[in-house]
Amino acid sequence: MGAFTKMILVSICVAFLAAKWTAPRFDADSLRGAKVLVTGASTGIGEQLAYHYARFGAKIVITARREKVLQQVVEKCLSLGAQKAFYITADMASESDTDRVVDFALEKLGSLDYLVLNHIGSSRFGMWDGDVEHTRWLMKVNFFSYIQMAWKALASLEQSKGSLVVVSSILGKMSSPFVAPYTSTKSALNGFFGSLRYELAMKKSNVSISVCTLGLIDTDSAMEKVRGVTNVPAYPTTDAALNIIITGATRQPELFYPWFTYFIAITKDWFPSLTDYIILNSYNYIP
Ligand code: NAP
Repeated sequence: MGAFTKMILVSICVAFLAAKWTAPRFDADSLRGAKVLVTGASTGIGEQLAYHYARFGAKIVITARREKVLQQVVEKCLSLGAQKAFYITADMASESDTDRVVDFALEKLGSLDYLVLNHIGSSRFGMWDGDVEHTRWLMKVNFFSYIQMAWKALASLEQSKGSLVVVSSILGKMSSPFVAPYTSTKSALNGFFGSLRYELAMKKSNVSISVCTLGLIDTDSAMEKVRGVTNVPAYPTTDAALNIIITGATRQPELFYPWFTYFIAITKDWFPSLTDYIILNSYNYIP
């Protein structure tokens, strides 16, 4: 390895460790009684978010489409220590449903300390097949519902010095094959909430925005899609969820989980040909 490459790697490590050491400490007690709305909480990362908040003694509202599953998650939240737990069914493709969810949370909890936007609509893992209608629908579910709910909850978050937590993906920072519609929605989220974060800072708002960049996480839905297609390592759902909660509670602007997604995000444009080579060789595909 050349001296220049070594120097770059050492600089990145030092920057990463410095960022870790200077990060604010997480106080679990700060979440006792916190009023939290989590979307997409019937399964996967959202379900684990609900359980962690419950263990910390929060008051929770969860939402997704499947009532039976939400009921079970709420019961488990109460048994884990949630001070309150409610669910509301909603389809995030519907504008009236997104508003209804925030109204319901405000009615049940009185106000909101955390809005955790996590849901995603189902999308195919495969070559783009020209289905613009699906992409339009996915934009509604994965993007427009996020900005609508964020706007609706902002006044309450402002009063409570609350936090807006947006679950995004490394695929919002870089392109990859087989996920064109999904990647578009995540890039849109990163762009929008990055901009909004600056605007809130300029207005001296009390609300913090945390955008969470995740790599591959071992949820059932993700594993089902990538099995046999890629050897990219998958990281534990419950740990990803805990890191998201800590990032929101400590009001950090960004989370990179697992840690190497940070390196991917900052180095991907340094050697574009190398990046292309790695991406093209990360998937098993025979034309
Ligand atoms: P998941 O297991 O597929 O869960 C998706 C959640 O969204 C479910 O609760 C689902 O519940 C809900 N949902 C789906 N369609 C909906 C709709 N139309 N309206 C309302 N709710 C809907 O997803 P996940 O893997 O946990 O991912 C969670 C977040 O992490 C997403 O933002 C995703 O982009 C991000 N992420 C995940 C990975 C990964 O590898 N897993 C990697 C990077 C980023 P119902 O079916 O009951 O509605």
